[in-house]
Amino acid sequence: MIKHHLIYCTPFVEWEFDLDRAEGSFLWTKDGRKLLDFTSGWNTTNLGWNHPEVAGAMMAQIGKNCFSAMWMAEDAQQEYAAMLTAALPAGLAAVGRATGGTEANEMAIKAARTFTGRKQIVGFLETYHGQSAGTLQIGFPAAYIQDVVTPGPDFLQVRYPQTYRTDRSQDQVLEEFAGQLEKVLATRQIAAVVTEAGIVTGWGSAYVAPPGYLSLVRKLTRQYGTLMILDEVGTGFSRCGRLFGSEVAGLTPDIVTLAKAMTNGGSAMGALATSEEIGQAAADKGLFVSTFGWTPVACAAAVQTLRIHQREKIWEKARQDGDHIVGRLKQELGGHPPVGDIRGIGMEIGIDLVKDPQTKEKDTERKMKVIEQAFMKGLHLTGDAESTIQLMPPLTIDRKSLDEGLDILIACIKPAA
Ligand code: PMP
Repeated sequence: MIKHHLIYCTPFVEWEFDLDRAEGSFLWTKDGRKLLDFTSGWNTTNLGWNHPEVAGAMMAQIGKNCFSAMWMAEDAQQEYAAMLTAALPAGLAAVGRATGGTEANEMAIKAARTFTGRKQIVGFLETYHGQSAGTLQIGFPAAYIQDVVTPGPDFLQVRYPQTYRTDRSQDQVLEEFAGQLEKVLATRQIAAVVTEAGIVTGWGSAYVAPPGYLSLVRKLTRQYGTLMILDEVGTGFSRCGRLFGSEVAGLTPDIVTLAKAMTNGGSAMGALATSEEIGQAAADKGLFVSTFGWTPVACAAAVQTLRIHQREKIWEKARQDGDHIVGRLKQELGGHPPVGDIRGIGMEIGIDLVKDPQTKEKDTERKMKVIEQAFMKGLHLTGDAESTIQLMPPLTIDRKSLDEGLDILIACIKPAA
C-alpha cells in the first residue's frame, strides 16, 4: 500500500493507519481513534510507547554527542556493552554493533561461517529472522521468496517441532525432531543452527516447542561442531517472563542476537553477543562493519531501557500477566468452536482459529475478521499470515486495561462461532 508517497508494510494484516501519538499502552490515530495496543509494535515497545525515561536519556545524549564512528567508542556505547554482557549468560563477552535484527542475524551468520570454516546454515521452516537476501532464506518457504532469491545449498530448513496439528505426544514430536536435526548436523557441514528460544515470535505463529527443545539443540550442535545462534530479537527484554529467553532453558548459546525492544522503540539498534574468540574471528575479516550500528543516542536509550527492566523486574510482571491472559482465554474461549489452540510463553501468546475443531483446518479469514472487528472497537491486534492472532501487549500495561482488551477480544471471537 502506497499513501502520502510512503510504502506501508502490512505483512500479515491487510490494513494500515496513520498514527498521531502514542503513550504507554495507547495509540491515537490521525482520524481520531484511541486504540488499546496489544502489539507493542511487534515486541518493540515492551515498556510502553514513548517511555519518558527512555526519551529523557536520548535527549540528554543528543545534547552531548550524536555520532561516533565504528572505530571509536564513547561512554554510552561502552556502558551499554558492559551492562548487556553482564546481563546475558556468562561467556557472551563481546558484542557486535548493528542497526536492527536483520543486520544482527547477518552478522551472526558471517561470524559462524568464519569461525567454523563451514558455509551451511540450518533454520526452521516458517520462522522469521529478517529481510536481507540471506536471512530471508533461514525460515521462509521457498515459494514466498522465489522472486528475490534462488534457493541455494547454503541454507537448509528443518520442520519446527510443533505439538499442535499433530496427534503425536510431545515426547514423540521431540524424538522425531532430534532424528531429523541430527541427520543434518552429522554431515559436519553446518556452521550454525538459527532458532528462537522455544517459541516462534517473528513469524507470528507463537508455536511453542516441546519442553527440552532448546537443550536438545544445544546438545546436538555441540556434538557436531555447529554453533547455536539464538535469535532473541522477539523473546528478549522480558517478553517471555525472563529478561532473555535463554534463561527459560538456562543455557548459553554461542551467539545471541538482539534488537527491537532493546531501545524500547527509541532508536534503530541491534546486537550480536558472542564469545571473544568467535567475535574476534569475524572482526579480523572486517565483517562487523556498520556505520550506524549503536549510535550514542541509541545506546543512551538502550542503557535506560535495560535499567528499567532490571529495576522493575519487568519479566516477573510479564510472567504473571501472561498467566492471567492464558487463564482467562482458556476459561472463556477454551471449548469455543473457532478456537483451536491457545498457547504462549510469558506475554507472547497465540490464539489459533480453526474452521473445524476436529480437522483443525486453519481459518485465516476469521482471524482477519476478528482483528478488524477488534480495531473498530478500539483494540489493536496483529497476527501471522495464517490463522493465529498474536498477543504482545506492552509489558507495563495495567491490569484494568489488559482486562478491557481481553473483553473486546473475547467478544469479537465468541459471536463469530
Ligand atoms: N528476528 C525476529 C525473531 C524478528 O521478529 C524480527 C523482526 N520481526 C527480526 C529478526 C528482524 O528484525 P528487524 O526488523 O529489526 O530487521
